[in-house]
Amino acid sequence: MLTLTDIERKEYSNIWVVAEVSSGAVQPVTHELIGAARELADARKSEVWTVAMGSDISSDAKSLFAYGADKVIVVDDARLDGIQDEVEAKALVRLINKYKPEVVLCAATVKGRALIPRVAVMANCGLTADCTGLSIDPENGDLLQTRPAFGGNILATIRCSNHRPQMATVRPRVMKAPEPDRGRQGEIISECILDTDADKVKKIIEIFHSSEATLNLSDARIIIAGGRGMKGPEGFELLKKFASRVGGAVGASRAAVDAGWIPYTHQIGQTGQTVQTTLYIACGISGQIQHLVGMQSCDVIVAIDKVPDTPMMQMADIAIVGDLFEIVPEILNELPKL
Ligand SMILES: Cc1cc2nc3c(=O)[nH]c(=O)nc-3n(C[C@H](O)[C@H](O)[C@H](O)COP(=O)(O)OP(=O)(O)OC[C@H]3O[C@@H](n4cnc5c(N)ncnc54)[C@H](O)[C@@H]3O)c2cc1C
Repeated sequence: MLTLTDIERKEYSNIWVVAEVSSGAVQPVTHELIGAARELADARKSEVWTVAMGSDISSDAKSLFAYGADKVIVVDDARLDGIQDEVEAKALVRLINKYKPEVVLCAATVKGRALIPRVAVMANCGLTADCTGLSIDPENGDLLQTRPAFGGNILATIRCSNHRPQMATVRPRVMKAPEPDRGRQGEIISECILDTDADKVKKIIEIFHSSEATLNLSDARIIIAGGRGMKGPEGFELLKKFASRVGGAVGASRAAVDAGWIPYTHQIGQTGQTVQTTLYIACGISGQIQHLVGMQSCDVIVAIDKVPDTPMMQMADIAIVGDLFEIVPEILNELPKL
């Protein structure tokens, strides 16, 4: 087995975040990753660097200092317009070889999932996808990457002790973004795309977004979610009414999605979306680990179930025991008419 000597290990320093850039703007998941990177860097007494690659990205890149970045490497090039994962991967590997980061974090988005595995292969290091927790060994810099394993039945903590850099992806809304400090300053490092990086520039003709529900779910501050306890598609009509009264979105467990009561775009959990809302109301969802990993970071969790000791009821801040088909209409009656 290849092992890393202490001397080789010391060549690598700082925690990097690959900024999620879309339509010339840095996306909020970048702030969440910088918040996590800041904690890791503080533990290692090192710095947070962010790599922002895109077309016309320079001015937006400066905003990243407010969230905790110390340095931002900006690669601003018109050839990076659209999704250019092959070009970005080559450029990123060059930067990794030049600056030698200890850790590289990337968002587990459509774009990040296309980009970072290429980088991991080219940089000859491991990659832990969809982490739900990150910490670091302050002595040797080993990244402790926690994620669900074995069908979500356990949470495994993974170390890649023998390779640097260590790479992990985190889904949007898993980590909390720090409050921005607008007065915070940092250093911009300008880098460029080489012609050898850009031999596979793609022309994106059109980008299709799936149904509005996907967007609504990740942006929602309130989610009313239903599970097998909703009994059928009619049950979800009740939840849609509830959600529209409180300005929220409708979520679902996999059981409800698999039954065909609501489309997959509403599914929350390990094989669905991760959400981080102010309020999450779970109706007839028992709260198996595969569901909980997708919503456990919500601020206030309310559970409605006829069984009092399900995992969801145990985890909830407010647990309402009873028949949801009586309780939900009662709540709707009590809500002020909008
Ligand atoms: C690899 C893998 C990935 C998975 N990914 C996901 C995922 O992403 N998301 C996900 O959700 N699941 C996922 N699952 C499935 C998960 O293990 C559970 O099977 C699923 O979450 C159960 O859904 P549920 O809570 O709606 O159903 P159940 O566990 O059947 O719970 C239904 C609840 O409704 C309550 N109830 C019934 N009727 C009423 C009523 N009238 N009033 C009040 N309460 C009532 C019951 O008491 C019960 O607690 C995955 C599983 C595997 C193996």
